[in-house]
Amino acid sequence: MIRTRVLGMGLLLSAMVVAGSAMSDSAAAASGRAGPAANVTAKRLVNAAREPGQWMTYGGTYSEQRFSTLKQINASNVGSLGLDWYADYETNQDQHGSPLYIDGVIYVSTARDVLYAFDARTGKQLWKYNPMIHGERLRYNVGLVNRGIAAWRGKIYMGTLDARLVAVDARTGKEVWSTDTVPASLGLGKMANEYSITMAPRAARGKVFIGASGGEFGVRGWIAAYDAETGRQVWRFWTVPGNPAKGFENKALERAAKTWSGDWWKFGGGGTVWDAAVYDPVTNLLYFGTGNASPWNQRVREPNLDDDLYTASIVAVNPDTGQYVWHYQETPADAWDYDAVSPMMTADLTIAGHRRHVILQPSKNGFFYVIEAATGKLISADPFTVENWATGVDMETGRPIVVPGARYKDQPWDLAPGVQGGHSWHPNAFSPLTGLVYIPAWEAYFTMANATPGRGGPPGGFSLGISMGARVAPGTLKPYDRRGVRGRLEAWDPVARKIVWETPPLDNGRPTSGVLATAGNLVFMGDGGGKVLTAYNAKTGAKLWNFDAETAIYAAPITYELDGVQYVAASVGGAAQGGYFAPTNARMLVFELGGKAVLPKPEPYTPRTLNPPPSTATAAVVAHGGELYSQYCSICHGANGMQLRSSFPNLTVTPLLWTQDGFNAVVLQGVRADKGMGSFAKDLMPEDTAAIRAYLVSRANELKALGPRAFRRGGAPRPP
Ligand code: CA
Repeated sequence: MIRTRVLGMGLLLSAMVVAGSAMSDSAAAASGRAGPAANVTAKRLVNAAREPGQWMTYGGTYSEQRFSTLKQINASNVGSLGLDWYADYETNQDQHGSPLYIDGVIYVSTARDVLYAFDARTGKQLWKYNPMIHGERLRYNVGLVNRGIAAWRGKIYMGTLDARLVAVDARTGKEVWSTDTVPASLGLGKMANEYSITMAPRAARGKVFIGASGGEFGVRGWIAAYDAETGRQVWRFWTVPGNPAKGFENKALERAAKTWSGDWWKFGGGGTVWDAAVYDPVTNLLYFGTGNASPWNQRVREPNLDDDLYTASIVAVNPDTGQYVWHYQETPADAWDYDAVSPMMTADLTIAGHRRHVILQPSKNGFFYVIEAATGKLISADPFTVENWATGVDMETGRPIVVPGARYKDQPWDLAPGVQGGHSWHPNAFSPLTGLVYIPAWEAYFTMANATPGRGGPPGGFSLGISMGARVAPGTLKPYDRRGVRGRLEAWDPVARKIVWETPPLDNGRPTSGVLATAGNLVFMGDGGGKVLTAYNAKTGAKLWNFDAETAIYAAPITYELDGVQYVAASVGGAAQGGYFAPTNARMLVFELGGKAVLPKPEPYTPRTLNPPPSTATAAVVAHGGELYSQYCSICHGANGMQLRSSFPNLTVTPLLWTQDGFNAVVLQGVRADKGMGSFAKDLMPEDTAAIRAYLVSRANELKALGPRAFRRGGAPRPP
C-alpha cells in the first residue's frame, strides 16, 4: 500500500481556544469530536517492550535504549524507504524534540515549546498548543529548544523555557494545568528568571519528573516530582547544598556540604538536571545526571578545590519520596563544564560471566561509564573519544586520574573533550541484538584559561570564571593545538570496552543528531548541521540509505507500526544561514517502504537588507536608547543592535524601524507574545521605546554606510 499525502499547515480547519494564558488551536475541539486519548497507563509503560508498535516515552521504553524490535524496514530493503507524508511547523528555529507515537497519533514539541498532535494516518494536524512563554522575562537565551515530552493517562507533559511544567489534554490540546517549577522560596528575584526547562519530563508512578537548566547562570540545581493529575509538587531534590546558615534540606545535603568550601552558595553552585533522567522499574529508582559545578573555574567558585557534591554526578533517588539512595561522581572538582547529564539507559549485560543490570552513559567528559544500577558501583570507565584531561579512572576509588596541567592554573589547556562535550544531549541507542551502543560522538576542543584575578565576575548571574578566547602563541598551546567539533557515529561495545566501528567524521563544525536502532539491523542518524538523514548497517556501519531533509537534523528519529506498516518519523529543522527571517523548512517527516511523497523545493530566500529611515534623533537620545537596548534587548537581539544567529530577529533590518506605532505594538502591547516576545510595558515607557528605536535607526544607518565593511572577518558586526 503506497499512499501519498502532502499536508501543509494551511489546510487546517482550526479554532482558536484561549485557556488561561495559553493558546490551543484544536480541530478536535472545534468539531466537538474527541481524538484518541493517549491512555498510557503504568502497566502499559512498564510493559512497553510488548507493544513495539508504540513509542510512548522519550527513550522508547523505560530503559531508554531507543531500540525497536520492528524489522519490516531492514538492512535489505531500506533502499526503498521513502517519504509518506510531512507536516510543516510554524517556526524557523532549531528542532530538538523527540516525538512520541501513541495509538495513531504523533505528538511532538517544537522550538519555543509549541506542541503539535498529528493524525499518523493522514498527517493532519489534530491540535497545536502554545504555552505562550514569557520570553521577555528570560535571562537565558542559549536556544529556544525543547527536547521532548511525556505521556500519562490521557495527558501530555512538557517543560517550558520559562520553567513551567504543563499538562495538556491529549485529545483536545487544551491546557489542564501549568505549574511554575521555580520554588516560591526563591522569590521573584533574578535567580528565578535564570532557570529554564529544555529537557523532556519523565512520567512514572503517578508522577512527572523534571529538572531545569541554568548552570552557567548562577543557579542551584534540582529535580522535582509533580502529581500527574494535579500538578502539585510531591518532592524536590536539590543537587547542591545551599547556605549552611539556613540549615540543610536533608542528610544527603549535609554530607555534600562537607565537600564545598568558602561561600559557594553565593554562586548558586550549579549541578542542574537538564537532560538525562531514567525511571527504572527493575530497581524502582529514579536516576538522573547533574550538570557542571558553577562557575566553571573552580578557583573562582571555592578556595579548597574540593569535590563539590553532587555536581557532575549520576544520582539515584526513591521516585516516590525523592530520598537520596546513591551517587557516583564522574568529575569531582569539575573545572571543565563536564555536565554528567548526557542521555543514559539501563541494560542487562553479561560481564565476566555474570548477568548485571547496569546504567550506560557516554559522558560529556569523554568516558563511557558502566555502573551497577541498584548500587551505583562503578564497573568500567573508558575513553570513547579524544580525551586529554585524565589518564584514566582509578577503579579502586572510582575517581579520574587528572592530568595536572588540565586544571589550567598557570597556563591555558587545550581541553579535550572541550566544553562542547565528547557527547552532548543527543540521544544514544543500544541494540541488544548487536550488543552495541550507538553514540553520536564528538571530537571537541576548547581552550581553558584561568581568569585574570578579580575578573571572574561577581557572584550570581552569568559567570564562567575563565578567560574566554585566551590568546596563545601558535604552536605553544598544551597539550596540542586543535580547534572545533567533529561529529561521527560510533558503535561501542560496553562489555569488551572498545569501539567496534565508527563513521568518518562529518564535515568540520558539524555535530550530529540523536540516533535510533532497530531489529532490522539499522541505525538512523542525521547529519546535525548538514541536511542528510542516513541509515547505517548496525553491524558494520555501512551507509545503506539517505534522504535530503532540506534542513538541519538534531532530534533522534523514532519508529512505530500502524495498520501493520512500520514507519520512521523524524522531527527536523535548524538554523538557516541568513538569520531569523530565513525559512528553515522545519517539519515532521514520516517514512515508509515505497513512500513517494516529495518535499517542495525550498523557496529562494533573499536576506533582508539594511533599509532604515533617516536618523534624526539627537546624540543624547541615541545614547540613552543604546543604554536601554543594552539593558533590555541585547541578551536576545545581540550586542550593538544586531543579532546574526537564527533564534532572534536582527533588529537593524526590521521594517518596524519605520513606525513608532508598529514598534510599540510589539514592544509595549505584546502583539508577538505567541512568538515569545511579550510586552515590556512594565519596564519601558513610550519615550524609552522611542529612544531604543532611535538607537536602532542610528545603528542601521551606520552599518549601511559601512557597506560590506560593517562585518569583521568571521561575520561579527563592527561595534558602533
Ligand atoms: Ca554546562
